[in-house]
Amino acid sequence: MTPENVLVETSRLIDGKQTAEDIKVEIAAEVAQRRAAGHKVPHLAAILVGHDGGSETYVRNKVLACERVGFASTLLRYEDDITEAELLAKVAELNEDPEIDGFIVQLPLPRHIDPDKVIEAIRPEKDVDGFHPMNIGRMVAGLPALLPATPSGIVELLARQGIKTSGKHCVVIGRSNIVGTPVSILLAKNLDTANCTVTLCHSRTQNLADICRTADIVVAAIGRPEFVTADMIKPGAVVIDVGTTRVADASKKSGFTLKGDVNFSEVAPLASRITPVPGGVGPMTIAMLLLNTLRAAKGEIHPK
Ligand code: NAP
Repeated sequence: MTPENVLVETSRLIDGKQTAEDIKVEIAAEVAQRRAAGHKVPHLAAILVGHDGGSETYVRNKVLACERVGFASTLLRYEDDITEAELLAKVAELNEDPEIDGFIVQLPLPRHIDPDKVIEAIRPEKDVDGFHPMNIGRMVAGLPALLPATPSGIVELLARQGIKTSGKHCVVIGRSNIVGTPVSILLAKNLDTANCTVTLCHSRTQNLADICRTADIVVAAIGRPEFVTADMIKPGAVVIDVGTTRVADASKKSGFTLKGDVNFSEVAPLASRITPVPGGVGPMTIAMLLLNTLRAAKGEIHPK
């Protein structure tokens, strides 16, 4: 069952696509203003290694989004036999290229390349994915930083949808460095858009369903289709589904359906607000990547 064939009042759906569109309109206006004032347009580069279908789609969408807001973009493609040393040399080139304001290395990388080594090689001021330990550390310390795109996209989505977070109990399922852990940190910050009491769960958590049932807000970032079921949700909870797993589907032209981590048909009738997959968190991730690139171009976080 997919979001489109479950009846949920639109007022309960959290429309990440529209919210991301609003952010893109704001970014495009600022870019146009900066260009008129004689500044160069922000330039995002993306490195894509290999031919993973999901990664190809994500990178294509990121490049299209750049065009949409008036950024310049460069896609650098390499076969999956590129060596770690060769990839690190490309990263070093982009670090030094004054034309490039920010860049990403699309994950996952082939097994012979250590992603941590690659992430640490990116200059923090050009790390628009917000994965570098310097940016993560600054985020934890509450200093200005390029924030990881998906976690900051979730916080922004809650804020722009008028969902109150202060004092709420938020249960995050999943503790990855790119989603679960940073979103739990951001939601616990002493900020108007956060101030949650956060419980971070993972595969060793006992009584996960019991803990989830105490949540006012559930963020599911697991990568297991339809893992979160109705018995795990308190009626009226807000449910944010980060999961995007490709599941084979012969009825689709592409041959697959994108599945979230939440069993939408069971959970949507219980939730006060819920994100669909697709159209929820995914578009926000791209919007926040663009925002990071604009900030990097302005030298806002790490002055140039
Ligand atoms: P990940 O690195 O594989 O981490 C998955 C996390 O889920 C781990 O912390 C794991 O626990 C936990 N987990 C796995 N099985 C569990 C279980 N049975 N009970 C409780 N916790 C469990 O995944 P990720 O990179 O965070 O991505 C998660 C999902 O989000 C994926 O579907 C990914 O495609 C999607 N995603 C979407 C976006 C977007 O923009 N929409 C962006 C990034 C990721 P352990 O740590 O104990 O192993």
